[in-house]
Amino acid sequence: MTKKICILGSTGSIGVQTIDVAKKLGIKVVGLSAHKNVDLLIKQARELSPDILCIVDEKYYPLLKENFPDKIVVTGQQGLINIATYPHADLIVNALVGISGLVPTVEAILAGKRVALANKETLVTGGKIIKRIISQKQEKDSLPILIPVDSEHSAIFQCLVGEDKKNVKKIILTASGGPFRGKKFEELQSVKLEDVLMHPTWNMGKKITVDSATLINKGFEVIEAMFFFDKGCDDIEVLIHPQSIVHSMVEFVDGSVKAQLSYPDMRLPIEYALTFPERGKAVAAPLDLAKVKNLTFEEPDFDTFFLLKIAYDCAKEGESYPIVLNAANEEAVKYFLEGKIGFVDIMKYVAKIIEGHRLQKIETVEDILVIDAEARRRFKNLVEGEKS
Ligand code: NDP
Ligand code: MG
Repeated sequence: MTKKICILGSTGSIGVQTIDVAKKLGIKVVGLSAHKNVDLLIKQARELSPDILCIVDEKYYPLLKENFPDKIVVTGQQGLINIATYPHADLIVNALVGISGLVPTVEAILAGKRVALANKETLVTGGKIIKRIISQKQEKDSLPILIPVDSEHSAIFQCLVGEDKKNVKKIILTASGGPFRGKKFEELQSVKLEDVLMHPTWNMGKKITVDSATLINKGFEVIEAMFFFDKGCDDIEVLIHPQSIVHSMVEFVDGSVKAQLSYPDMRLPIEYALTFPERGKAVAAPLDLAKVKNLTFEEPDFDTFFLLKIAYDCAKEGESYPIVLNAANEEAVKYFLEGKIGFVDIMKYVAKIIEGHRLQKIETVEDILVIDAEARRRFKNLVEGEKS
């Protein structure tokens, strides 16, 4: 059983919920990190008294150090790596957002840590390399090095306990459909930031909430599932399920389908990742299906939400494609949240960047970072070129 954890991104939606679950389970939080939110980080550190603290933005380092003169206080990218590889933690929870999660995950695995992974961008961009590193590190019969936190992947992981991988025919990833389910592309032209941020079933950080509205989040999850469960994207299907009660399903070769159900509450998959292979103490409310009554399912609309289709294409191409998809999308979401582009522009610009991309092979983390930076440069040129 996990006794001590570090949380990368402790001030975010998953980070805060992880602290809540850890407290309920009696797990000691020994490391915390934030990007800029030093006030919340200080508050968390006062309550939890961890050994090591990281504020990525160096501007806030003196303030943090002044508040905690007796703790290890670190900053910058190296600071994140210090938390990710902290020797006294049994498990690292990666709740960072975007590609910022990649290098800390790689360093944690190289340092022999187990990682509970919420940061899906890690596997979208670095899946190939992480898989290679894990295959060199993973000892037979030991606990898995990477354990999913994303609710769909936690569901699949739970469905696969006791099963032989060769008997898996298909993975069915469920998706709520986001706030614009049922709408046509033309109707999306006028949507406002506040409409985009009103997710019908989940309360999450802003970036993933925007990604859920374009459905690219589900595309990222297809890629994440390919690496977690060793499947090609043709064997991973997306199914819209507006109630977000069935978190995903696995179909086996005999036609049997297993699913994992619960209310949409991320504390459950977080708890599972922290307690695996045991189960925790039910931090989330028990499911009452008689009250839920209806569980419905429908096909995704690939024409309106064409980034989902593009994500499948990128998944099939592999190598540099998912990296470019992620980089263009991160930039697009940033521009959108800053009010510089509209909602449908996210979809249009990301599509254009992918259209203009030619496959590059990747062998190292450095290759990924170079391709990521180049894609962001192209995105900036495209958007600012069109504006001038
Ligand atoms: P949030 O935006 O709420 O939190 C992100 C955390 O990462 C914050 O602690 C933030 O610090 C920190 N951070 C942001 N940018 C950087 C950076 N460049 N370098 C270092 N730290 C940084 O995100 P969520 O908690 O919503 O999501 C985290 C990850 O989990 C994402 O990959 C998301 O896709 C995935 N996920 C989230 C779910 C959810 O319910 N929220 C569900 C399933 C998956 P600060 O607060 O200082 O900005
Ligand atoms: Mg998810």
